[in-house]
Amino acid sequence: MSSDKKSSPQQVPLIDFATRLKRSIEAQGVLPIAYFMAAANAHYYGTRDPLGAEGDFITAPEISQMFGELCGLWLADLWDRAGRPATVHYVELGPGRGTLAVDALRAMARAGLEPQIHFIETSPTLRKAQGAMLPDAHWHDDLSTLPNDGPLLVVANEFFDALPVRQLVHSQHGWFERMVTVRHGLILPVVDGPPLNGLIPDHLKDAPIGSIIETSPASVAIAGALGERLAAQGGAALIVDYGYDHGPAIGDTLQAVRGHGYVNPFDTPGDADLTAHVDFATLGVAAHVRGVHVHGPVGQGDWLNAMGIELRADSLIKRSPARQAEIEAARQRLTSPMAMGTLFRAMAMVAPSWPTPVGFAENDENQPENS
Ligand code: SAH
Repeated sequence: MSSDKKSSPQQVPLIDFATRLKRSIEAQGVLPIAYFMAAANAHYYGTRDPLGAEGDFITAPEISQMFGELCGLWLADLWDRAGRPATVHYVELGPGRGTLAVDALRAMARAGLEPQIHFIETSPTLRKAQGAMLPDAHWHDDLSTLPNDGPLLVVANEFFDALPVRQLVHSQHGWFERMVTVRHGLILPVVDGPPLNGLIPDHLKDAPIGSIIETSPASVAIAGALGERLAAQGGAALIVDYGYDHGPAIGDTLQAVRGHGYVNPFDTPGDADLTAHVDFATLGVAAHVRGVHVHGPVGQGDWLNAMGIELRADSLIKRSPARQAEIEAARQRLTSPMAMGTLFRAMAMVAPSWPTPVGFAENDENQPENS
């Protein structure tokens, strides 16, 4: 080889994401599930628009405009009863295509509310899609750069389920971290690392061998930061997601969706949407200890019904009778216990100086004992 050739710029072969991830796992031996999930989802969301019929999954705001409109009305009603503060910010966590925001802001504007728009979004591809819909929005990587000069009106739909979870496994020798390793070119889950018995709540310590407990430190940190902001600045947050009311629970809920079907979470990292069920009770406590009132969770269907989705559907049908079947089907899909109505949960965080929100029973306030 001539010295000339040696000094010429190195040709870097294009290596796909999965290969790069495998190499970094191999270099370390094992990596925690939370690291794997964070890396895979950052690549997944960063490189595509995953929503809709052509994509991998569909969400409530993409099913019908009624969802975003009722989110907007819920916030507008609270804002109105809080005395219509002049400087107010609409904040959405993980706004996807921006569909929910467009529908919510249209409904808010009809109620006389025109907030500044702030999106917390890490995906450059989705930021672009959101910018095409709402060019006046401001983008943030996390909550720390949000303005602090007025109340926040926050929505997060199917955001928390995309955040990384840590999994702890009960083995014969105690509780350990669930990790990934690479064997024969495949990513596989293994149990590794130091014993973590100290992290397990007493009532779960004796769970059967093989049991998995999930925690999501990233979600807890965000819920805590939200609670702190709302308590200090005023405002409210509506959180809607697939999850459970009383956690932490035993069970492996890590799942991967691609092309509207389930796939093995370890098979196509970065090309499938990785989610885990949301532990609402823990998020509620994280926010409550920072000073907000927490309501719910309640079923998405109950919340939408209380918000008047039926009336909204009727008025949409009156305006476009040809769309009756489609609008009725969307309402059913969003509210029916057989579809999204019960499995999806809605939870509210409200500043203590703000009024009680609609759609959450008066006695439903989820205040932890001894607080
Ligand atoms: N809320 C939308 C999209 C849900 S998909 C809807 O209901 O249609 C999840 C969204 O969260 C995407 O916009 C994704 O890019 C974003 N997201 C995922 N992880 C994130 C993170 N760590 N920080 C900020 N946004 C994130």
